[in-house]
Amino acid sequence: MLNDTNDLPIYQQQIKTLSELEELIKTLLEGPNELPVYQQQIKTLSKLQQQIKTYIRQLEVTDRHEVGKSSVITPKDELELKSEYLTRTPEEQEKIVLDPYNPESNPIFYETLQNLFPGALPMPAYMQTTYEALGDYGFNNKNTMAMTTLCRDEITKPFLIDIIRQWGKSFNCSSLAGFVMMGKTAFAAAADHVPLMDNQRRFAYYAMPHIAISKDGEVGQVYRYGVSKVSHACGSLEVIAKELMSGRLKLEMDMQDLEQTIIRQKILSSINYGDKPNLVEITKLASQILAKELPHLLSDVDTSLFKYAVMTGIQIHGPMDTTWIYPQEFYVVDRDLPSQQEQLNSFKALQQHKFDEIKKQQEEEQIKL
Ligand SMILES: [Zn+2]
Repeated sequence: MLNDTNDLPIYQQQIKTLSELEELIKTLLEGPNELPVYQQQIKTLSKLQQQIKTYIRQLEVTDRHEVGKSSVITPKDELELKSEYLTRTPEEQEKIVLDPYNPESNPIFYETLQNLFPGALPMPAYMQTTYEALGDYGFNNKNTMAMTTLCRDEITKPFLIDIIRQWGKSFNCSSLAGFVMMGKTAFAAAADHVPLMDNQRRFAYYAMPHIAISKDGEVGQVYRYGVSKVSHACGSLEVIAKELMSGRLKLEMDMQDLEQTIIRQKILSSINYGDKPNLVEITKLASQILAKELPHLLSDVDTSLFKYAVMTGIQIHGPMDTTWIYPQEFYVVDRDLPSQQEQLNSFKALQQHKFDEIKKQQEEEQIKL
């Protein structure tokens, strides 16, 4: 149902029809006969309306081309896609159409990705893994609300959409570069929205900065729809890396540029005098800072009522609309657990499994030779 925003007018028409039906049944209710039947119908109609309204809301907030297409070639950015796609050989094009996440679809990118971010996973696999692993701890899309801290950049949206698709909804805690700047007041509001079920409230918090890698392995470079020249991600972190490289830093508090001022302070407070981290290093640093700050933000959470999961790492934008995740922390806080906080090794298992698969393939090929 969510696959095409072209269907938006249809959903809107459905809502209208349902409202009219509801009105009609309400009129019929004036008669005494079959009252429970009508009441049941009203209930069903309201439920249907709610469902359709939810779909409409999701469609309205979602870029039409990104919906439900995270793991396949999409019509998104057709011009950009065409220009990039057409530079490939027919063999490469075939691989890309079959599976853009296949390492062979973008070999230079994939090699760069695994060198810089070893164990980075395709976003769909990452999302499925977190959802399934948290299922073992009682988290599901009915009793859990997601929270997200990502960069404001629109290219982080496919990840956000996947989180919403998996968990149903997500409180947006995002800010520039994916730092936590919402503060405890805003977090208290988020916590207040977490569903209360069986006397428990559960949330799953995804927090990560981002970086792009092009098909040719250029770090920080990304091609955006409607923008012919190469673009950058994360632009905010790149500015700071450039300032450090040039030796000129804007240290004053700029009230007109608060987020960037705070990011600069956070980064500078975490490096040694004279350090000049490149974009990859500064992105990893941002991820570490974020991971360190989250427990402070969550320190007021009442663990007699709340159970929650935290997932940190780095979001990587690859070629052909692929999104990859470099997983870092993954833990559950639940005071009913023996240790109250448990680290999950799901990615390690997945990465090891992948490694074993590749090794097996190589061994089989060697036997054939
Ligand atoms: Zn950014």
